[in-house]
Amino acid sequence: MNVLVAGGAGYIGAHAVRVLLRAGHRPVVIDNLFRGHRAAIPPEVPFYQADLLDREAITTILRQEAIDCVMHFAALAYVGESMENPLRYYVNNTAGTIRLLEAMTEAGTARMVFSSTCATYGEPAQVPITEETPQHPINPYGRSKLFVEQILQDCVRAYGHFGVVSLRYFNVAGCAEDGSCGEDHTPETHLIPRLLLAVLGRIEAVTIFGTDYPTPDGTCVRDYIHVDDLCEAHVLAMEACRPGQFRAYNLGIGRGYSVLEVVEAVRQVTGRDVPIRIGPRRPGDAAILFADAGKIQRELGWKPKFTAIEPIVETAWHWFRANPAGYPKNTSS
Ligand code: UDP
Repeated sequence: MNVLVAGGAGYIGAHAVRVLLRAGHRPVVIDNLFRGHRAAIPPEVPFYQADLLDREAITTILRQEAIDCVMHFAALAYVGESMENPLRYYVNNTAGTIRLLEAMTEAGTARMVFSSTCATYGEPAQVPITEETPQHPINPYGRSKLFVEQILQDCVRAYGHFGVVSLRYFNVAGCAEDGSCGEDHTPETHLIPRLLLAVLGRIEAVTIFGTDYPTPDGTCVRDYIHVDDLCEAHVLAMEACRPGQFRAYNLGIGRGYSVLEVVEAVRQVTGRDVPIRIGPRRPGDAAILFADAGKIQRELGWKPKFTAIEPIVETAWHWFRANPAGYPKNTSS
């Protein structure tokens, strides 16, 4: 299939491009390069620098490239930033997707695989989280994605030809095993990259955001899924996408690790000391989030290759050790 990878120069999008190529599909990338990296896109893949808010440009690309499916990774995804600047999240994530949907309607593009998030569940009363767990987000990031899920359901109901699979990611981590692409955020806020950058001496120490949560060791518990397993799920989702259907699936490994357990995994994988300090809670963080991802396993036959934290950290370590300064910087061309 011809697949428009919106946000294909970003962390997950760049991995998806490679997984699509391996699966015999034809990816086309759009990215505004606000946080994405030109160097993350393989040279043979068509690339358009465009913003989702530019509906006309997107419509033209959808038509010109005869796109069958959009994989929509283009979003801002920092909980803390969304608390400080909610409008930016609603414009970029929610309004940007509305524009993209208008362009898809104009061009007659029927399928979308949407990057949703466990942040749409907020602070659930019970874990593991299933797709039936009520969605009550506790930060603007989660709300910006939940609004989109609701809009997508309206569109599926209204436009008969349109089908969507929404994938609710837990914590995406790790890098391509062959080292062809990796993780490079500015600012880097995510736990595993920050721990590895601290090990490499590129940041001084990592602050642990809160040790007074109601968890066994007092630190937050999250479900870390390898980025390539997640991208394989996108290919299955795209193939299963049907007109008139909205489906949602959780994507995690079904097992939670505390922040201190992740620190220990980094210590073991790298064989080095991890400089940490204890700090206060980060606003917007839930105590415990881990998935019941049984639905996508049963319905689409998805099976993650990585089912524990250490091998996931290993792949990230491989990338960060080889690319401590990240990708080559974008040029203006
Ligand atoms: N975290 C932390 N220190 C950091 C970054 C993250 O203690 O410098 C914690 C954070 O509070 C959360 C977990 O690590 O419980 C994962 O955070 P991350 O930002 O990687 O992903 P998120 O859960 O926000 O999507």
